Formats: sequence, structure tokens, C-alpha cells
Amino acid sequence: MDRKELKILKNILIKEKERIMKSISQLEENTQRTSRGSASTGPGVPTHIAELGTDTFEKDLDINLTSSEVVLLQMIEESLKKIENRKYGICESCNKPIPKARLRAVPYAKYCIKCQKQQEGKG
Ligand SMILES: [Zn+2]
Repeated sequence: MDRKELKILKNILIKEKERIMKSISQLEENTQRTSRGSASTGPGVPTHIAELGTDTFEKDLDINLTSSEVVLLQMIEESLKKIENRKYGICESCNKPIPKARLRAVPYAKYCIKCQKQQEGKG
């Protein structure tokens, strides 16, 4: 892969990483705020008792969203490491180059389309 293309994909990965880190930290903040309850609201801030009932439900949503974002973040980190090791864009299964168009669509792809389909078929 040429350097220019690699640079573009690296930028996409870094931007996506930043976006996910931001959304994860926001979710963590929200989760901590709700779990700490009235202690964190401090003096002068009214506690909305009516909201308490939805806490568990909202927390579950947060955790689900966070875990899927964490998986994505790990895939991005792996891709960035591969760029450093000059192994980026190579299918982990068949060791053939992943098509540029696929990397543009999914810059953290581990497999080429053929191997990805085989991986999905396994489950
Ligand atoms: Zn492959």
C-alpha cells in the first residue's frame, strides 16, 4: 500500500478512536453520576426522585453501548499497531492484501471480504 493511502486510513482510524474514547468517557461519567446518587449532586442541587426508577434500565443501556464501543476501540488500536509494524491491510487469515475499497469502508478490518464471510459462517 502506498504511503499516501496509509496516511489517509491512519487519520480515519485516529479520528474514530478519538470519537469512541470521548463517547466512552461520557458514558462512564454518566454511569458514575447515577450510581453515586444524591452524594454527588452536592448542596443546592435537587434530587429528582422520579428519575430513580429508570436508573437501572439506563445503566444497562450504557454498559451495552460501552462494551461494543470498547471492542471497536480494540480493533482500531490493533490496526494502528499494524500500521506501525507495516502489517496493515493484510488479511489475518489468508495473508493477502485487503482491497483498498474495503479498508476505506472499514479501516479496522482484519480480514478480506472472503475470509470475513468464512469467519461469520463459523458461528
Ligand atoms: Zn483473507
